[in-house]
Order: sequence, then C-alpha cells, then structure tokens
Amino acid sequence: MRKDVRILLVGEPNVGKTSLIMTLVSEEFPAVVPYRAEEITIPADVTPERVPTHIVDYSEAEQTDEQLYQEISKANVICIVYSVNNKKSIEKVTSHWIPLINERTDKDSRVPLILVGNKSDLVEHSSMETVLPIMNKYTEIETCVECSAKNLKNISELFYYAQKAVLHPTGPLYCPEKKEMRSACVRALARIFKVSDLDNDGILNDHELTFFQRTCFNTPLAPQALEDVKNVVRKNLTDGVRDNGLTLKGFLFLHTLFIQRGRHETTWAVLRRFGYDDDLELHQDYLFPLLKIPPDCTTELNHNAYLFLQSVFDKHDKDRDYALSPEELMDLFDVFPYVPWGLDVNSTVCTNDQGWITYQGYLSQWTLTTYLDVQRCLEYLGYLGYSIIAEQESQASAIAVTRDKKHDLQKKQTQRNVFRCHVFGITGSGKTGFLQGFLGRNLVRQRAIKEEHKSYYAISTAHVYGQEKYLLLHEIFPDFDFLSETELSCDIVCLIYDVSNPCSFEYCAQIFKQYFMDSKTPCMLIAAKSDLPETKQQYCMTPLEFCRKHKMPPPQSYTCNTAVAPSKDIFIKLTTMAVYPHITHADLKSSTFWLRASVGATVCAMLGFAMYRALLRPR
Ligand code: GDP
Ligand code: MG
Repeated sequence: MRKDVRILLVGEPNVGKTSLIMTLVSEEFPAVVPYRAEEITIPADVTPERVPTHIVDYSEAEQTDEQLYQEISKANVICIVYSVNNKKSIEKVTSHWIPLINERTDKDSRVPLILVGNKSDLVEHSSMETVLPIMNKYTEIETCVECSAKNLKNISELFYYAQKAVLHPTGPLYCPEKKEMRSACVRALARIFKVSDLDNDGILNDHELTFFQRTCFNTPLAPQALEDVKNVVRKNLTDGVRDNGLTLKGFLFLHTLFIQRGRHETTWAVLRRFGYDDDLELHQDYLFPLLKIPPDCTTELNHNAYLFLQSVFDKHDKDRDYALSPEELMDLFDVFPYVPWGLDVNSTVCTNDQGWITYQGYLSQWTLTTYLDVQRCLEYLGYLGYSIIAEQESQASAIAVTRDKKHDLQKKQTQRNVFRCHVFGITGSGKTGFLQGFLGRNLVRQRAIKEEHKSYYAISTAHVYGQEKYLLLHEIFPDFDFLSETELSCDIVCLIYDVSNPCSFEYCAQIFKQYFMDSKTPCMLIAAKSDLPETKQQYCMTPLEFCRKHKMPPPQSYTCNTAVAPSKDIFIKLTTMAVYPHITHADLKSSTFWLRASVGATVCAMLGFAMYRALLRPR
C-alpha cells in the first residue's frame, strides 16, 4: 500500500473548497475563510485507513495556472467541487475541469476524481440527476458525494472516499465500460480460490470459507452471515453455489458485487492478504522474503513445510495412487505463473511404473530445490500460498538453515537431513547408471529416458539407523582442469570406474590425489558394471591396493544391469559415511562402530520422544 495520500481540491471560486478543508480540521463552519487554505497533513493514526494524508487547496485568485498544473500532477486524487445551487459550477466540471486534468495526466494512469457537490444545505433537491450522466461518461470518476461545509454533512466521508480512491483504486480491478472485473483481477482471484480450496473439489465449503474469512479479515464469520452470503449468490446465479459451497463462479460473482457496490476495499483486502501488490502482481516481499544463509550452511525444509507440501500433494492426488499423473501435476501448478518443473525432474526423482512422480519423488524434488536454490523454493511456496495456509509469518519460516558444517565436524554430530554426494568418473564409466540406479531404475528402464530429459542430479532417501536422510547425487562432468569450489564441496565423494574398461580407474586415482587426498571429505571407490567381465586397470596399483594405501574402504561393486530394481545397499553406506564423516574407514568395518552408532541413534530417538511428550503435556 501507498505510504501517503495527496488530495487536491479544485473547482470554481466560491463553491466552498476552502470552507470544506477548514471545516474538516476545526469541526465547525468558519464564518470567514482565506482564499486558500494552507496545505495540511493529517497524521496516519487519525485517518480511517491509517495513512498520512495531505490536503491541498486551490485558489484562482492566489495561484497561477502553472502552479495549478503542478499541483494536479502531484495529486493522488482530485476532488472537483461544485456548488449544488450553482448550475454554472456544475457545467464547468465537464467543460473545464475534467478536460484540464486529463490533459495533464497519462491516459493509462489517470488520477481518480471525486465529484463533490457542496452547500447541500441550501437546496431541497439533490444534484445527483445532473451528475450521474457525468459519472457514467468519465470512468476516472470514482464516486460522487453531496455535502455541506455549513452543516458538517458528509465532510469526513468525502475525505474518506478520496483516501479510499487512492488506496483501494477500482481501476485495476474493474472495467466500468464492460461492467465486469478485469482479467488480471479474475486471474488473481481464481488463484486465491484454488489455494483456499483445501480439498481441491472446486467448491469452498463452510470450513474453507471460515478459514478464508479468518485469514483475510481476522474475524470469524457468523453461521448466519455464511448462509446470507450463499443466499445472495444463489439468488443471482444458477451455479454459484453447489453442494452448499461456493463455486469459483460464485466467488467471482461475490467480488464483482463488492466492487459494484463500492466495497472494493474488501476485494483489495483479499488480494493483498494473498500477496498481491497494487498492479495485481505477487509482491517481491511475499515471494522472496529475506533469508540469511551464512557460508558453510545448507538449506532444508522444516517439518511444518513438509506437512504443508504433503497436504498439497494429497489434494492433487485425486485417484490416491501416491503419484501425480501429468494432469494432476498440471493442476498442482495451476497456481503458478509458469510450469516450474521440466521433464528432467522425472529423471531426477523416483517415479512409478508409468513414469509419474511419486509422493516420495515429489518431496525429494522439493528438498532438492530447497537445497540447491532456496530463493526458487521460497517463490514456489509463495505461489502455493504456504505462509497463508500454514499460518506462518512468511515463506521463509519453511526453511531450516543448518549450522556451519565445520561446527558439525567439531561436535561429531549433525542435525542435517540432506547430504550431497559428488560422483566423478570418465565419460561412459557408469555415472548416470549409478544415479538412476539410486532411483530404482535398472538399465532397461534407463534406456527409456530421452536424451533431453536426462538429469545430472538424483535425489532420494536412504535410512541411516532408522532415520530417513536425503542423499543428493550430483554427476560431475569429467574435466580435470576446471573443478570449481562448488564442484568440490560436498559431504561424500564417489569415484566411479568401469571394471570392463582398463583406462577408467586412472581418472579416479588422479581426481583423488589432486583434490581429495588431503581433504576431510570421505571418498568411496565404486567398481561399476560389475556384471561385466573385469579387466586389469592400467595403473601402477590395483584399485584395491590404492584403497588400502589411502585408507579408503575397498572398491564397492555396483551394477544396475539387473532384472529388478538395483540394490540400494551402496547408497545406504554412502549416506552413513556422509552423516558420520568422522568415523574412520576401519570403524566402518568393525562391528562395534555400528553398535555404537545405533545406540547413539536410539538415544537421539528417545530424546525426541521425550521432547514430543513434553510438548503434548498441557501447561
Ligand atoms: P472557495 O472559493 O471554493 O474556496 O469557497 P469558500 O470556502 O471561500 O466559500 C465561498 C462562500 O461559500 C463562503 O461565503 C462560505 O461561507 C460559503 N460556503 C462554503 N461552504 C458552504 C456550505 O456548505 N453551505 C453554505 N450555505 N455556504 C457555504
Ligand atoms: Mg478558496
């Protein structure tokens, strides 16, 4: 909303402009007034809309035309005052004042006008009959009002209307010529409807309407009021109410009615609550709230956010098959201005037999976006209405910023849930097969993936001592000379060689020696394509000897050339090493470590349980 409002009063001499201003300020009719009142500023807290308001007078006797034009261009709203007992002053509204103002303002951003008929105390009849045709002709006229400075009639109303015309303009919402809402407004309201339709059945039922009312207006809706609203819609529309709930058509009709009855501040309140600015675009503060992420920290979704995303999934998984069909996915993205997920997403996360993103895959993709591009994640959550539906202060409250990894390493403990694994290997060594194998796809299913839908990422979950963790695999393009800082920073490294290709191990050895030998990041050597006959690697040592020498676990055989889904064992091992990077490779082999680690996990789990109980206990 605007920070202040500037109201200018114009009109013929002696219609009562100065008297109106003085009456507003002093609450009594002044017997004598100057030609022109000083500019006054009404502080925010005494105006109905809580915005500082400047009121500016005009006097032909004291001001030049140039000064008038300047004031016109500075004004946010202009009141054209006439005197109800003075025909000539009414005529001048159309013959002089409106053209003069319009000449000085842009056609697309016309300043709203208010017609003010002053001195209503002097006549019996109303001037409305004369004024209505003018209102119909000039759409920039927001409203008209008759008042009397002398009787103090409609004075505060006049300034309230002026303020409202600026703060809640009808222009962006409604097209007076066509007598219907503008398409941008319909689009915004349709999105709001969709977000508020919690069960996605196309109807706002009583529960959803009550929630909507509370979110937008902070007051509950009385049961009778709820019925009244529905009855109004029923009376005017055949399909505005269905199954005792409001359809989109009914919802849009209600807003048209609000606007037509001059209650467009109601519609504005709804739009603003759902993040829209004055141009009916989602506000930057709404989509991109400030979020500080210190170096060496990562971003994850918190429990609340997962619950919300789960509810979004549920409302779109209409056939309850725990996967989103292309239609269901499109329906989910209906509240987005563009489709955020390309087909590469299907090869980044788990899908079902039809290739549709599963529940697990859906949450994985969200986890990936949050981890790799948190700004995008915030934006997407904004489109879904997270902060509104989950009743949070902003989209930023969905994000958990983890503590500095150095701290984790020091304390030998981590609260993180997402771990990043970089996969190195020469072209054709089996990196993609490894990534896709993590998603449960064997070689046959991998061959079905089109080139343009391939992904360098794969994300899914792995259980580490009963706790679900996300493992994010990232295939690194084999280029020796250009490994950037981000390509090197991860929680665990996979070095892949092809057992059937004698030249593939050397690259792993070189990458290890050049980049990871002295780093704290644990490394694992993967002997891929283990279903093929093994050949001797062209290197001064065998892979096993290399691992021994550098205190790495022995090479892990892997194949995705399987009849069923490839084994997940290796990914559980990788995740475990990523979660517990401080353990030595000897530890990994010894049974006592596993025991110790699992005892640790139980303690954690019990602690969690106790905290949960404490939370449940009434205060
Ligand atoms: P301006 O030139 O438009 O600023 O008009 P003024 O405020 O100077 O008022 C012109 C004359 O109209 C003064 O004599 C006022 O007392 C009188 N006047 C202003 N408002 C009213 C009103 O509401 N009723 C009546 N009866 N007289 C008014
Ligand atoms: Mg005056």
